Amino acid sequence: MNTKQTELPILTLARGKEESLDRFHPWVFSGALRKVPEDLEEGSLVRVAASDGRIIGTGHYQIGSIAVRILSFGDFPVDEAFYAMRLRDAFRLRQALNMARPDNNAYRLIHGEGDFVPGLVVDVYGHTAVLQAHSVGIHHARNIIAEALVNLDGAEIHNVYYKSETTLPYKARLDPVNDYIVGRYESDEATENGLRFHIDWLKGQKTGFFLDQRDNRELLRKYAHGRRVLNTFCYTGGFSVYALAGGALSVDSVDSSAKAISLTDANVTLNFGNDTRHKSYAEDAFKFLDRMEQDSYDLIILDPPAFAKHRSALSNALRGYRRINARAIERIASGGILFTFSCSQAVTREQFRLAVFSAAAQTGRKVRILHQLTQPSDHPINIYHPEGEYLKGLVLYIE
Ligand code: SAH
Repeated sequence: MNTKQTELPILTLARGKEESLDRFHPWVFSGALRKVPEDLEEGSLVRVAASDGRIIGTGHYQIGSIAVRILSFGDFPVDEAFYAMRLRDAFRLRQALNMARPDNNAYRLIHGEGDFVPGLVVDVYGHTAVLQAHSVGIHHARNIIAEALVNLDGAEIHNVYYKSETTLPYKARLDPVNDYIVGRYESDEATENGLRFHIDWLKGQKTGFFLDQRDNRELLRKYAHGRRVLNTFCYTGGFSVYALAGGALSVDSVDSSAKAISLTDANVTLNFGNDTRHKSYAEDAFKFLDRMEQDSYDLIILDPPAFAKHRSALSNALRGYRRINARAIERIASGGILFTFSCSQAVTREQFRLAVFSAAAQTGRKVRILHQLTQPSDHPINIYHPEGEYLKGLVLYIE
């Protein structure tokens, strides 16, 4: 980290390969580079130069098809001051979005490329930040980032939990340990739009909570009144809690993981005590939808995990989306509302919409699109890095 900028190794691009980088796309593909020194260590900071020697940027080297992730364009050091500046900029945006406030203290502070720090995700839950590295370079920088987080003015972060066991490339053999870098366990409670949630960053999926559905949950709250709601793939029960808050007649939550169901139950209790409107089922959602009776729900949520993590799984994924959407559209009561999502990066908005269209066509019912949904503004998309858009959703009205 203390190597001088001018002493960093330089990787030079093949002729004509600088175009996308000059447009600030932050990835350098391995095929675009001339020779890479054999002893270059994975995770090292490198400078990337155009074929004429002009320095384009500084980034982290990694073995794989994305060879360098550019952190800073031009010829500027990526050091303690760099991370502190990126965090300040990111926090300023979250303040402008009015997301860091007592009744909403759960938000994404750094969304990788969307906040100009490729490889880094930071989610904040009250006084605790959960730091996740997706690249070896960020893993090496974790202590510096953690220190910058606790020193970030106004953010009141006391504890930084490092959680990268499942996100780092296993081939790098870093054997990261999930643990606190700064501070300790303080409280697992956070707030979102005035509602309360237990967040399990120690054992839960991702950083413990799916912050990316915040706005969509808020929209659902407005439709819940007087409706019988089914929340499939409920995980921590986010949609269930909002539906109850919105005045749903009943809410059934389904997830195949018993752990998820106990998180959902705990979050319902935290907000509403013993609320007899809520029931939960540790069950496969496909099976639940298959055995669901006609007209038993007026509002259904389908928020499955990424069916296609890679392009190779695309056709299976689309089949999965068609199947669950067809069941929901077929069986929902007349005047029903369906919230349906795909968080697969490999599935485009058009492909998802087409899958839902085919599902609707199978049922022969009249279906209209009321809303087209995406990820919230604390998951910004760098306009030069369209790959950062991943969450797609539709709200349908079914006659
Ligand atoms: N809607 C949630 C996030 C969903 S994450 C939220 O707003 O927070 C996806 C969830 O689907 C996980 O909890 C996982 O346990 C569950 N899941 C995966 N496969 C499933 C299946 N076949 N049936 C039911 N749940 C499943």
